[in-house]
Amino acid sequence: MKEPFLQAKPILKKLIEAGFEAYFVGGSVRDHLLKRKLGDVDIATSALPEDVERLFPKTIPVGIKHGTVVVIHDGVCYEVTTFRIDGEYKDFRRPSEVKFVTSLEQDLSRRDFTINAIAMDISGKIIDPFNGIKDLQKKVIQTVGIPDDRFLEDPLRMMRAIRFVSQLDFVLSEETKKSIQKHAHYLKNIAVERILIEFEKLLEGKAVDKALSLILELQIYKYLPGFADKKSELLTFAKNCLKLPLTLEEQWALLITILKIENIESFFREWKSSNEKIRTCKQIISALNKLQKGAALTPYFIYTTGKNILLSSIKLLCILENRSFDELADIVEIIHKKLPIYSRKELALTGIDVMDWYQKKGGPWLAQIINDVEKAVVEGIVQNTKADIKEWLLKCNPPSENNY
Ligand code: ATP
Ligand code: MG
Repeated sequence: MKEPFLQAKPILKKLIEAGFEAYFVGGSVRDHLLKRKLGDVDIATSALPEDVERLFPKTIPVGIKHGTVVVIHDGVCYEVTTFRIDGEYKDFRRPSEVKFVTSLEQDLSRRDFTINAIAMDISGKIIDPFNGIKDLQKKVIQTVGIPDDRFLEDPLRMMRAIRFVSQLDFVLSEETKKSIQKHAHYLKNIAVERILIEFEKLLEGKAVDKALSLILELQIYKYLPGFADKKSELLTFAKNCLKLPLTLEEQWALLITILKIENIESFFREWKSSNEKIRTCKQIISALNKLQKGAALTPYFIYTTGKNILLSSIKLLCILENRSFDELADIVEIIHKKLPIYSRKELALTGIDVMDWYQKKGGPWLAQIINDVEKAVVEGIVQNTKADIKEWLLKCNPPSENNY
């Protein structure tokens, strides 16, 4: 058994000793069988949420109504969820109510895909009533039960199916695929926040090209924010997005560039993206625009843009123009290493020095002078010492003819 399971074993042991059933379930069991790096270890149990809270000293009641209690064990959080079947999915949100059940098999039957409906007991024995292992071997994603029913119950599962294609490089079963094509429009009813989680996992997957082809083929793109009239651009993106390994922010920035999104802000608002992500993407795109207009990799450009943002934008440039990234990246690294300062705070002068030299009170002129000094220092025109800066400044701008 792998380390993350061993670490979580005491939780299963405690539940079993208290007379309950408990198993590892979901993504971690799937990834263990696929020999992939494990994500969160989830646990399913016959114990009710109140039993779980009673048995463990450190718990967080994250979703008692849905049967989920987080147990903190050795500093790690585990979702412990009571065996359940889902009630009605009113308004295509999460089920408004769930029904707790007593058998593991019932719990596994409400799960989305056969490969996600496998459990493992405390001894490592696999329980696989829906032949998930066979599908893991065949590299196929198919629903537990009839696809039409399962996608109508929760249309988000269509996005999940395709994000697993991307993450695992699997294919959809014919029946699952047909059903998605038929029901794609139900995605209209799903909260963007839920779609975003799956779409970003899709963007980060190793077979994102195949997943995007499915998004196009099965008409899903029509129901994703900002994509409806971008079919050919999405195809171009699919052909380009695996040329270099990209971070999530880089993928978004490349997507926005290839899709020629004009209003980046409102595009991201529609996707309900975080402000932090919006800021980073806009920085990457802005640097990319400068590179596309021919900006040279000067020390000052590298300094003002920041090394990481600039490397991201260079990556995108290389993808778009079929150029080699490593050479340009090396140049940036070398210039960056040699920069005399990395922030304005490191300048060997203060506003007070400048006011003193010019015998003038502060004002916009002062900010301008400091900007010019900063640029001159970064470009190596003047050394970053107070004496050198003073000499350079007073020579270029004698107080008598102070142009600032
Ligand atoms: P990841 O490794 O990306 O976390 P995962 O399979 O663990 O993948 P989660 O979203 O964490 O995915 O969900 C955990 C498990 O809960 C799934 O493996 C699946 O069994 C079940 N599940 C999650 N979402 C749904 C859903 N919409 N419908 C049915 N079952 C679901
Ligand atoms: Mg998970």
